[in-house]
Amino acid sequence: MAILVTRSSMPSLEEYIEEIRPIFESRHLTNMGPVHQKFQRQLEDYLGVPSVSLFTNGHLALETAVQALDLRRPGGEVITTPFTFVSTTHAIVRNGLKPVFCDIRESDYTMDPEKIEALITDRTVAIMPVHVYGNICDVDRIGAIARKHGLKVIYDGAHAFGETYRGTGVGAFGDATMFSFHATKVFNTVEGGAVAFTDERYAQALQELKNFGIHGGEDAAAVAGNAKMDEFRAAMGICNLRRMDRCIAGRKAAHDRYFQRLDGVAGLRLCPTQPDVTPNYAYLPVCFDPRIFGKDRDQVLEQLREQEIYGRRYFYPAVNDMTCYRELAGEPTPVARETSLRVLCLPLYEELTPAEVDRICDVILEK
Ligand SMILES: *Cc1c(COP(=O)(O)O)cnc(C)c1O
Repeated sequence: MAILVTRSSMPSLEEYIEEIRPIFESRHLTNMGPVHQKFQRQLEDYLGVPSVSLFTNGHLALETAVQALDLRRPGGEVITTPFTFVSTTHAIVRNGLKPVFCDIRESDYTMDPEKIEALITDRTVAIMPVHVYGNICDVDRIGAIARKHGLKVIYDGAHAFGETYRGTGVGAFGDATMFSFHATKVFNTVEGGAVAFTDERYAQALQELKNFGIHGGEDAAAVAGNAKMDEFRAAMGICNLRRMDRCIAGRKAAHDRYFQRLDGVAGLRLCPTQPDVTPNYAYLPVCFDPRIFGKDRDQVLEQLREQEIYGRRYFYPAVNDMTCYRELAGEPTPVARETSLRVLCLPLYEELTPAEVDRICDVILEK
């Protein structure tokens, strides 16, 4: 049996049907209907944040957050990480802003706070770090730097669903945090996403900017597109939220088995869970040092593929090595580049059994 890198979390068909039955009765399919409102409240609760605004996907949530925070100005720069899914950078550039790439730290692959201040100029408007693999950025130091220089912080929290840092929901840090509910993420609404925020002033801006800029029913106050979440996705969200505990427990079991088998093997580097964070076990990244381990990342990927086991080079290439960003690459980011050449995300999902993890690890450890 083939093992894919992930497997979407889903409720039973019967449970989903029960959740969408009222939609068939009311014919209220979208436009912030009752299911949307219910899901939004449940999500605020679950994430431990004062407010969320729901979106049709995570990317548009991030793009709209940049607009809601009023960051768009000619020549404006946003300091961000090249070690991410390309969506993060696109959200900056599609808003007419320039990405300035800050290298990551080796310990957890998040933006290196030591390297941020050197990149700040009088054109900098914001910092956009990523809680990559669910590893929480140094929110304290990034927050202090932002306050000192009068910058906004938008976190790409696509990987950090449901996590807390020192007991606080991670969506409460910075000015805004995006979560993605894409089918491949820890929690999904098929496609979907949200912006979490604490300052209520952003509520109306987000609401208008995801709905054509319409202000008060008829007039448009801003030029904007459409990024609303519909009732069917919200219903999927309500169902999947109910099964989060099971989902995380299954992932944890597989994660722990990987650690038993691979942690401490010479030439392999696993990513330990962070001490102050309740983890969601979103990904299982392993870095391969070919000089010590004897095989490089791509050899391991190929050996796994021969056994119908599919890992993912996530993230490769680094964003500043991608064709569309080469001209904007700026200063080299050696840690991000080296990591992108070495890292492989192994299969991890709720139903992955310890026996399957053993099968995967046997292939990796084969000489
Ligand atoms: C998935 C992802 C996104 C985009 O989210 P979508 O819901 O797929 O639009 C953005 N950033 C990161 C880091 C992601 O992993």
